[in-house]
Amino acid sequence: MSAVLPIRTEEIISYNPATGAEVGRVPQTSADDVKAAVTRSRSAFQNWKKTSFKERAAYIMQAREVILSQMDEIAHLISAESGKPFGEAISMEIAPVLDLMQYFARNTEKLLGPTKIGIGLYALLGRSSKIVYHPLGVVGIIPAWNYPFSIPLGEAVMALMAGNTVVIKPSELTPMVGLKIGEIFEKAQSTTNLRLSNIVQIVTGDGQTGAALVEAAPDKIMFTGSVATGKKIAAAAAKNLTSCVFELGGKDPMIVFADANLELAAGAAVWGAFCNSGQSCSSVERLYVQENVAEVLTRKIVEKVRELTQGVGDSEDISIGAMSSERQIKIVEDHVEDFRAAGAKIEIGGRRNPDLEGLFYEPTVITNASNDMRAMQEETFGPTLPVATFTTEEEAIRLANDSEFGLTASVWTRDRAKGERVARQIEAGSVCVNEVLYTHGIAQTPWGGFKNSGRGRTHGREGLMELVQPQHIHINLLALLPDAWWMPYSPNAIITFRAMARKFASGSIIKTTMLLPQLARRIKELVTKR
Ligand code: NAD
Repeated sequence: MSAVLPIRTEEIISYNPATGAEVGRVPQTSADDVKAAVTRSRSAFQNWKKTSFKERAAYIMQAREVILSQMDEIAHLISAESGKPFGEAISMEIAPVLDLMQYFARNTEKLLGPTKIGIGLYALLGRSSKIVYHPLGVVGIIPAWNYPFSIPLGEAVMALMAGNTVVIKPSELTPMVGLKIGEIFEKAQSTTNLRLSNIVQIVTGDGQTGAALVEAAPDKIMFTGSVATGKKIAAAAAKNLTSCVFELGGKDPMIVFADANLELAAGAAVWGAFCNSGQSCSSVERLYVQENVAEVLTRKIVEKVRELTQGVGDSEDISIGAMSSERQIKIVEDHVEDFRAAGAKIEIGGRRNPDLEGLFYEPTVITNASNDMRAMQEETFGPTLPVATFTTEEEAIRLANDSEFGLTASVWTRDRAKGERVARQIEAGSVCVNEVLYTHGIAQTPWGGFKNSGRGRTHGREGLMELVQPQHIHINLLALLPDAWWMPYSPNAIITFRAMARKFASGSIIKTTMLLPQLARRIKELVTKR
């Protein structure tokens, strides 16, 4: 069911960022081959869209079984190609996507079921309206490298359940994980009764291959990556009016009030800032703590960081792995230098790990940070936790919202009402109270950003809605008489139209019912003129 395109114009070599060892080689797929893949996908769609939700669900659940049977092997591959710890590959990629697969396999039929809509006066005239949802066609998925398994796979599952076919262009840093996704679907297909090909295709390559996929005019682009690339894709997609969902960067704030459970908040800050070496779009990138507890919270955080072991991700007692690329580690170095130069203090870390050879940057805690520092505004995407202070609730909200991004945020307090009050004022797509980072792992709720963090949503019913087109089915249940607004017009017609205009807008069922005799007179007029 999946196909890796055969023609190699160039090769991409994937390396383990922790060891430098080669993980695999893949073709740099040419623009012509990408176009051919989209054409195949479009023709596969003609059959796939006719399958029932039950058949699609069986296929997805079979793919889920394949993943379960290969869990450790897949986790080792994710770890090898991305540098993240083996444990995180399971807890943050495999576990959530298994949940997502089950959720959409079980619930898509209900979530995309026809919706009956109340239509006011028209209903009184014997009409009814419902909305049915049609798949779009070919969905092109262009993900980043930081969650190379769960993000493209999750989006593919939703697209397939909605009746679309899929072409995935994995990140050039993690192509082997991309191919694994293709293999999983292929294996799943061989164990179902469905005999359909090209439902899921993987085209490997770098940004040029991604651009070719956009150029090939799929019916939707699901893009995850940087704001800069998002803008390029938006411009290219505009040529064909291709609609896109953009899941972009973040600079997510964590607000800790003095009444919070500081022990818990410290643990959350460490996990939120340093898991996946800080390379999560929803990583804690800015911590704002109420001034009177800043010292104690920072001390707790630093103590916890001291306990962490950094190393090659496939070892089970490693908490912090390698970063994914030299380019990314250089951004971290630049930002830490910016903090230093601007007068912030490095409490721990602040350098590449001198004891390790791969791309390891030490988990770094920085105090005396403030929003006027460049590194507090640009996305770092690395293991840094800058801490700034605030005194009032209003100041905390203002500081948190002082960003071009708005992906996620968290608020820490024992006062639940305050937590929710503050959460509602944060400009972000997802805000946690006394929790951090993991809401992308909740398949049932919409995921996406405010401001430059994105457009559109994935996950939840809102995410499914991005993958279908609604169709309004309107039925005249009586269909015996002409409509009052048909031609020819007459003075009586004008009286009717005036009355309709007034009563339509009245919102009152009684006033609307009073319109019926005039409508009857007008219809009689039309019938007798025939
Ligand atoms: P990137 O923008 O460099 O690349 C993302 C993908 O786009 C890659 O597959 C790349 O090959 C492809 N690409 C590059 N140029 C292209 C072009 N002109 N046309 C089409 N495709 C092109 O991003 P990255 O460095 O891989 O990822 C890091 C970024 O992703 C961070 O900003 C992070 O916050 C963001 N991210 C966001 C979310 C979210 O859900 N909001 C999740 C994960 C990562």
